[in-house]
This record gives sequence, structure tokens and C-alpha cells, in this order.
Amino acid sequence: MKKTLIIVDMINDFVTGKLGSPRAQKIVPNIASLIKKARKLGIPIVYLRDAHSPDDKELAIWGEHAMKGTSASEIIPQLKPEKNDMVLEKKWYSGFVDTELPAVLKKLGADTLVFTGVSTDICVQNNVADAYFSGYGIIVPRDCTASIDEESYEQSLKYMKNIYGAEITTSDKVL
Ligand code: ZN
Repeated sequence: MKKTLIIVDMINDFVTGKLGSPRAQKIVPNIASLIKKARKLGIPIVYLRDAHSPDDKELAIWGEHAMKGTSASEIIPQLKPEKNDMVLEKKWYSGFVDTELPAVLKKLGADTLVFTGVSTDICVQNNVADAYFSGYGIIVPRDCTASIDEESYEQSLKYMKNIYGAEITTSDKVL
């Protein structure tokens, strides 16, 4: 099994900013530990982050957020990427659309993707869907992802397990 750790949208706007929440803040230390472990084991880390332009479709639904070139779109300081990590900007929920992600994963030789970040039922779930359509195995450590409320979170985990065959586990068992 060749894993890659994917960190979805742990950016200022979604953790402490405009669309931030205590739930998103709560998972930060768990993701930090997982990143540390991945670095130690030489498991590649890919950060995906929203970086929107004014004409992006999503803004009609969510309003202006995570605008490209602003601090709102930056990865939170506690999870700061290092030199060998990859950081890809995205403008859709899924990082598989209009980015280098498919090529990056192919080059890494990844076969299993570990998804963390926010929101479980929006960007994480849509990335998981595309990962499934691309043939990847999927693992989601449940203590490393969060939604705006408990119901959306639980429903999404269940959906990803049942529909995409995602292994729902915890961060201490994942790498
Ligand atoms: Zn967005």
C-alpha cells in the first residue's frame, strides 16, 4: 500500500476566519500529529486549499471566501507546510478538478489516499468521490475531519464508507 496524506482546506478562513468553527479548531492537533508521523515515515503530504477568483461558481453559493492571494486562503500557521510538502490551489470543492493533483498523485505512485480536513460533508467528501472515480483506496481518520454540525459529519462519514468503500478509522491507526 502506497499512501499519500491529503490535507483539505485547513486554511485561515475555514478554521478561524469567516467560515471557521470550534469543530474545525478541535481537529488541528490531531492533524498536526498525523503530519509529523507522515514526515517521519516519508509519506508524501499534499495540501489542498481554496484560492478563489471573483468569477468562481462557488461564490454564488457561499459568498466571498478564501480569495486567492489573501491570508484567508493560507494554510493555518499550526499546520504550516514544509519544503517537501506539496500545496495545490483549487477553485472547486474537489482538488481533482483543474489542478495538478491527478498528475502529482500519479507521479508519487500513490494507491491509497488518507483524507483529513474540512468540511467532511463538502470538500472532503467531494475529494473522496473523485478519488474513488480515479481508482484510489480511501482512508478517513474521523478525528482529523470536521463539519459545521455533528449530523452532517456523521452522515458524510457513513456515506463515504457505504458508497466509496472508505475505511473510516482514527489517526492513531492510520499510518
Ligand atoms: Zn470555496
